[in-house]
Amino acid sequence: MIPVREAEAIILGCIQPFNVIGDTESIKLDRVSGRILSQPVASRLDFPHWDNSAMDGYAVRFADVAQASETEPITLEVVGEVPAGCAPQNMVHPGQAVRIFTGSMLPKGADTIVMQENTTRKGDHVVVQSAPAAIGQFVRTKGEFYQSGDTLLPAGIALTAAEVAVLAAAQCTFVRVFRRPRVALLSTGRELVPPDQPLLPGQIVDSNQVAIASFLERHGAIVLPFGIIADDPRVTAATIAQAIEEADMVISTGGVSVGDYDYVEDVLGHLGGDIRIRSVAVKPGKPLTVATFPHSEAGRDQSVIYFGLPGNPVSALVSCWRFVRPALLKLSGLARGWEPLVVRATLREDLRAGGSRETYIWGSLYYGRNGFEFDRAQGSSSSGNAIGLALSNGLAVVPVGTTAIAAGESVEVLQIGVPIVEGS
Ligand code: AMP
Ligand code: MG
Repeated sequence: MIPVREAEAIILGCIQPFNVIGDTESIKLDRVSGRILSQPVASRLDFPHWDNSAMDGYAVRFADVAQASETEPITLEVVGEVPAGCAPQNMVHPGQAVRIFTGSMLPKGADTIVMQENTTRKGDHVVVQSAPAAIGQFVRTKGEFYQSGDTLLPAGIALTAAEVAVLAAAQCTFVRVFRRPRVALLSTGRELVPPDQPLLPGQIVDSNQVAIASFLERHGAIVLPFGIIADDPRVTAATIAQAIEEADMVISTGGVSVGDYDYVEDVLGHLGGDIRIRSVAVKPGKPLTVATFPHSEAGRDQSVIYFGLPGNPVSALVSCWRFVRPALLKLSGLARGWEPLVVRATLREDLRAGGSRETYIWGSLYYGRNGFEFDRAQGSSSSGNAIGLALSNGLAVVPVGTTAIAAGESVEVLQIGVPIVEGS
């Protein structure tokens, strides 16, 4: 049994992130949401593309209005206007102004914008009642935000709305991103049946397969479902061998404890796997098996990582949050942010644990006037019962050596959902 931190370090040490040469694809801008950029994006344009107005108002020559005031306003002749999307038709000569709108191109001759609120329009003339603070006021100059050749976005970031806006503005209609990791998924156990089949005595539904598939897809993976494998070493070996061929990561549940039908570790050994972890001092999820398989593809070495998770539905999912997620995100090419999302929260109720293993207790994480607070889920805390975990958004972490933490004390909580926001 090794400590959680050590297991995490071993797992992350086994993961080689996707390669910028072989593991990328170019996809259309409207499909990039959530994907990870594989190379920096530089601008091909200056932005703004031309000098433009930051306000609705009048484009003027600063020298004309530098002395304007409430008591001594200055009147200018309005010689035209620049609606959005149009090129200016008029030059601004001394004594003149051009009506302008936010984002419109600055006409030649003008160097400053007077905001509409500081003027009064009188027919073909505009009366300026206050002087702009400085030359260039409310003018956004060409290239002020960024210039052609500037790096807009670095490699290794996940693309969300704001990054997509930047890519669109820079006219990157195709974007090079890392491919999605392929994760093979299988359930072991002769008691298991798919959710749509009638249950005979002694049988249970294979809930892990769909639960973990949902988890993986949420984290950007392509799931390769390998179904249910009865507890037979030969069939298990053949299935795992095929899964390793096809995937970047393989996840199985069940068959990793010490029972008579727990074959997974033996099979991994026979298939040439390098067993890195056999069990972890964590509750739930102690019988975690991690192995790597060397895999050569197109001249480069990329090993496939195998996670043999415990069969209990809660143990399997807690292991996903704690161990699979960082591995998957690192593999995906994300430059940072694969570490577990941990916050400190004040306990609303006492927590108890055995003390010999790092214990994850599921419940609700709140955010309110007093910062984060955590409340343990009511009901059974059996790792065979996913009901409590179903409505939980956090896993409180009780360290090894601690058997109780009192209400009012603080604990680390691993976020597995969005905190519940209370009051304001
Ligand atoms: P195992 O790790 O194979 O000893 O399984 C531990 C417990 O988890 C047993 O009660 C199994 O019936 C249950 N279990 C195993 N695999 C699954 C699965 N895919 N879905 C739901 N429960 C499972
Ligand atoms: Mg089993």
